[in-house]
Amino acid sequence: MEERTVKIPQHHHCRVCGKTFIGDGLYCSDECRGRDGAEARKKLRRYLVCMAVLWAVVVVAVFAIGI
Ligand SMILES: [Zn+2]
Repeated sequence: MEERTVKIPQHHHCRVCGKTFIGDGLYCSDECRGRDGAEARKKLRRYLVCMAVLWAVVVVAVFAIGI
């Protein structure tokens, strides 16, 4: 009798492209690692801009009220 089941070795899914790969880490390639880093930096920048706008609104509101 022939063994038909194909054993899939221990593998991971890339955080960026979702491709399966064998080995350690979160990414299938350096390209994906770089892309995820750039994406994270972009998100952080957007968050900081959001906070700055929020603070600006608060400061303007405080001055408008006249405390
Ligand atoms: Zn990838």
